[in-house]
Amino acid sequence: MSINSSFSHRGLEPEKKVLYIVGTPIGNLDDISFRALNILKNVSLIACEDTRQTKKIMSRFKISNKLISFNKINSFERIPQIINYLKSGESVALVSDAGMPSICDPGEDLVKIAKLNSIDIICIPGPCAALTALVTSGMNASSFIFEGFLPRKKKDREKILFEISKTEKTTILYESPHRIKKLLEELKKHCGGDREIQVSRELTKKFEEHIGNDIDKVINFFQDKEIFGEITLIINGTNKLENSDIDIAFLKKELNELIYSGISLTSASKYLAKKFGLKKNLIYNLK
Ligand code: SAM
Repeated sequence: MSINSSFSHRGLEPEKKVLYIVGTPIGNLDDISFRALNILKNVSLIACEDTRQTKKIMSRFKISNKLISFNKINSFERIPQIINYLKSGESVALVSDAGMPSICDPGEDLVKIAKLNSIDIICIPGPCAALTALVTSGMNASSFIFEGFLPRKKKDREKILFEISKTEKTTILYESPHRIKKLLEELKKHCGGDREIQVSRELTKKFEEHIGNDIDKVINFFQDKEIFGEITLIINGTNKLENSDIDIAFLKKELNELIYSGISLTSASKYLAKKFGLKKNLIYNLK
């Protein structure tokens, strides 16, 4: 495997032996990029999750090209076919039904194997529901965790819910409309009803809406309603220190004030731990 890949140009025309990962709209077809359309029009082959979905984009923009299906069920046989095709000097575009391939969609195995075969990968970026919802939430978007769909198995699910309850980072989840009420109740149980969340529904579509408040209020909002459409959930990080009601921002401020006055981190942590009845390393690690 080579250490780096370099390209003679990254223009509109596809290059030989390149696998293009092409982002497509998550609802509003006008979100397709000019570059994505050119690549879809000019690559030798488009590998798509569902040919019927991709045909909708192709017909809307009056382009035609060769399509093959590439999904969870047939990826085992498709991957070697696509790799051989690329190796013979052709270019291939990979698209999913909506959004960025590989993000809770097929793609990463193909990319992994293409890289092992020294095939260059270029992404033509497009919309992604996770980031689209995140940036509308006003929550910390510089440090976040994307969990996609929570696992169904109780033990695995509880583990992630526990992690979400403890993290200071923003968490992004995908969920289907008929399971969202159950998920909200689980989040309430783990994070408390006062944790801030945002349910983003039907992003980029006609009935886009963002219901954001604390978990209790959001549960209340949906109580007598049937929920439709596609949903992305944004969960604010905790502002409470582990096993306490003490605000992290408040403690950080206290810690910084002591350090600025010349006290060492160790001594300041010891002092605050005693003052608030906390473990010293919890405070030490805030720095
Ligand atoms: N690859 C896609 C992406 O980049 O966002 C995600 C595919 S995943 C199979 C589909 C899930 O993404 C949906 O169940 C929903 O949770 C979320 N999603 C996709 N489109 C959405 C939209 N328009 N509004 C809200 N959430 C959306």
